Amino acid sequence: MSEVTIFDRVLAGEIPAQVVYEDEHVLAFQDIMPQAPIHVLVIPKQKKRCYDDLADTNPEEVGQLFVGAARAARALGLAENGYRVVINHGRDGQQTVDYIHLHLLAGRQMIWPPG
Ligand code: 5GP
Repeated sequence: MSEVTIFDRVLAGEIPAQVVYEDEHVLAFQDIMPQAPIHVLVIPKQKKRCYDDLADTNPEEVGQLFVGAARAARALGLAENGYRVVINHGRDGQQTVDYIHLHLLAGRQMIWPPG
């Protein structure tokens, strides 16, 4: 059984979060340490630990996560000016919370290559 993470506790309503979008499959809430004027985290309600777990996941479930993130971005009005979607995986990817999450970053010009 995987460990209980901070995002399990957000989803359970045990710790507060600024929820900006929710549907049957995902919850989207503001990052506590924003790296852009808009920084939202999107998590699936059906827990996955990391991006690598998606290799063993039903594509429909994977799709629900991505559709939810796109709908969250649209609900926030981010589509016109643009935004960045980031998934960090593992140590070198600097994943710090072992509950898969998509970062939606917006409200400023992004740079490339990423750090
Ligand atoms: P990672 O580094 O794993 O890709 O991203 C984890 C993100 O979770 C970080 O951007 C961090 O600021 C955010 N975070 C960590 N703890 C909390 C928390 O308790 N609440 C919220 N809303 N975000 C958190």
